[in-house]
Amino acid sequence: MTDRYAVFGYPINHSKSPRIHQLFAEQTQQNLSYQAQAVPAEQFTTAVSEFFADGGKGLNCTVPLKELAWQYAAEKTPRAEFAKAVNTLKMQDNGLLLGDNTDGCGLVRDLTDNHSIQLNGKRLLILGAGGATRGILAPLLEQQPTSLTIANRTVAKAQGLAADFQTLAIINACGFEDLVGQQFDIILNATSASLSDQLPPLPDNLLVANGICYDLAYSNQATAFVRWGQQHHAQKSLDGLGMLIEQAAEAFYLWRGVRPQTQDVIALLNAERAATN
Ligand code: NDP
Repeated sequence: MTDRYAVFGYPINHSKSPRIHQLFAEQTQQNLSYQAQAVPAEQFTTAVSEFFADGGKGLNCTVPLKELAWQYAAEKTPRAEFAKAVNTLKMQDNGLLLGDNTDGCGLVRDLTDNHSIQLNGKRLLILGAGGATRGILAPLLEQQPTSLTIANRTVAKAQGLAADFQTLAIINACGFEDLVGQQFDIILNATSASLSDQLPPLPDNLLVANGICYDLAYSNQATAFVRWGQQHHAQKSLDGLGMLIEQAAEAFYLWRGVRPQTQDVIALLNAERAATN
């Protein structure tokens, strides 16, 4: 029998998740289907309960549903509790729905395993203080950077995150204008500005020589922040396609107990998008 999985979100038509999970399933010879379903926030509870009542095994939830999924899950992993957001739901044998958040783990795997970027001992800057930043903070802090700064347009949101995570580490919170005169080894863009090809206002000397830029957003063309990194001589200026594939692999592992190899999938999706340019 084919086990059913899906991703819920709104909008969802450009999601790469069905393709990624289909490639994982072929590679690991797992008998499963994975569909994308457009689910607006107001239909979330009905859609999720119907999916699992019909025998569905697991769900991914994306924008704007991650907080709702966190509220809905009966049990949560510690990293999902920290994130206050759930991107993966699994129906357990005991009938209780487990919520996990694999985004932060996916980001750290992409940085450390795929790109050999160590976070330990580095000065880290995160741009943006939304749901994605909340999700990646605990896994990033586990890597023991020297310092972590969150800069956001709405400074109070960065300060709120710093307060929420103060048991894990001291986090500096500021506005973009406060970044003048500061320098960082690694800059992560977790604003959604890239999605409209925009960029937060950033001072020119923000990145050290040979520093790293990473945009959580991804696109067939270089995002505005990836281009900023290239213009400011980053050693590497990357986008979030690898993170997307790694968070999917972690969800697949949670559901199936089998860890797919991500290298070939990353290479294939990179080749496919290069062919579109
Ligand atoms: P949210 O809507 O929760 O937060 C958006 C953040 O971006 C806020 O901090 C907001 O600032 C800031 N922002 C939006 N527009 C601008 C702008 N024009 N200038 C400066 N700041 C701006 O979004 P998420 O946190 O959920 O997602 C953020 C990004 O991360 C998205 O691009 C998303 O695609 C990506 N992402 C990628 C994943 C992957 O697997 N690769 C996984 C998860 C997310 P303010 O608080 O002031 O409004």
